[in-house]
Amino acid sequence: MRAWLERIGVRVLDHSPALELLVDDAGTVRGAAGYRRREDRDYRITAGAVVLATGGCAFLSKALGTNVDTGDGALMAAEVGARFSGMEFSNAYAIVPKGSTITKTAYYGYATFFHEDGRVLEGAGSTKGRSVIARTLLTERVFAQLDRADATVQEQMRLGQPNFFLQFDRRGIDPFTERFEVDLLAEGTVRGTGGIDVIDDDCATTVPGLYAAGDAATRERICGGFTGGGSHNSAWAMSSGSWAGRGAAQFALRDGRRADGQVRGAGRVGLRPGGTEAVTATDVVEAAQAELIPFEKNYLRHGDRVRPALAELDAIWQRASEGLAGRSGDERVRARQAAAITAVGRLMYASTLARTETRGMSKRADHPELDPAQHHHVLSGGLDEVWTGTTPARNTTPAVAS
Ligand SMILES: Cc1cc2nc3c(=O)[nH]c(=O)nc-3n(C[C@H](O)[C@H](O)[C@H](O)COP(=O)(O)OP(=O)(O)OC[C@H]3O[C@@H](n4cnc5c(N)ncnc54)[C@H](O)[C@@H]3O)c2cc1C
Repeated sequence: MRAWLERIGVRVLDHSPALELLVDDAGTVRGAAGYRRREDRDYRITAGAVVLATGGCAFLSKALGTNVDTGDGALMAAEVGARFSGMEFSNAYAIVPKGSTITKTAYYGYATFFHEDGRVLEGAGSTKGRSVIARTLLTERVFAQLDRADATVQEQMRLGQPNFFLQFDRRGIDPFTERFEVDLLAEGTVRGTGGIDVIDDDCATTVPGLYAAGDAATRERICGGFTGGGSHNSAWAMSSGSWAGRGAAQFALRDGRRADGQVRGAGRVGLRPGGTEAVTATDVVEAAQAELIPFEKNYLRHGDRVRPALAELDAIWQRASEGLAGRSGDERVRARQAAAITAVGRLMYASTLARTETRGMSKRADHPELDPAQHHHVLSGGLDEVWTGTTPARNTTPAVAS
């Protein structure tokens, strides 16, 4: 893809995180500004429209490949008033060997799970039985063994996903014949489905000039309240990227009025603190992670645990609004990541409380049944005040290619 783009004259800025969107007086998105790490200098790009494709948010949990996904696009979108959808579907947790970050879960379909004393952990499984594992982990260690794969399957597995086996080979464990301790690792919205709402087939958002693609956008249209792994995620990333790019280009041509310098940065928390009491990005991230990563809060959801977690995230947001900033470019990047993680967490828990049922990956222990009356999307948005609402479900009939 990179080669194709460069061949047609697209300039790629590597290692240049965007820090904020630029908007004109009418609130139309007109570009982005950020920091070029390798050159230690800021950049500012004005444009006829912008596509946000910054991925999802996994709260810096260290899950495989996700520490680049800190919800920066969600923060930037919220700052210009964009609407979100399905943010309650944001609590994917993957099975990992304890201490590992390799969240390849498909192969646990071949596993049996055990208590520490060797008894089989009844009901545990990689898909439907994951909450059994989570509940058991609250009080004791859990072990797994890939004992349901025969010799042929074992060979295919090694060929199919060699990186899955590296972690075992390095530790001298044969996962087919030996038991190993397992844990759960948060993947947030990366394997969730919530994100910036897209309101038409061009992946336009509710804000003029702003488009969203991939994991940054809601994926409810293709997989409802649950995704897991599998090809539909990258299919959505590629397809929505094409549609959003086309839509943004058409918007820029149609709208005509190119940004001419009369734009302002829309970023606030982490860039332009409103008070004097300093707080560091590390403090904000650690405090937010304490509310977002423990699976007793975010996976085994209950209103009695989600409400205080949201209240704590609100307080963290308030502290960050007043004192989170950075002097160097790298510090500003970290400050914005910290703000973004907190912002995503607040949208996520507010939406969770708005869905008083169990649907998709948003399982509520206090509302364990699916409620047919809630077959709708939970919408959300806002920064200092997070709001939620509902809208009737879209795409309720099978898609037909035309
Ligand atoms: C372990 C794992 C396995 C998976 N396996 C599969 C699979 O088998 N099949 C499948 O279809 N899907 C799979 N997925 C899901 C798939 O990886 C995602 O759906 C897909 O990567 C989304 O693409 P994206 O471009 O939207 O986001 P990403 O691939 O997350 O890319 C986002 C990019 O934005 C950059 N970025 C973030 N913030 C900023 C900023 N402020 N400024 C500039 N750039 C920024 C990041 O550095 C990153 O490069 C898997 C996910 C995980 C975690």
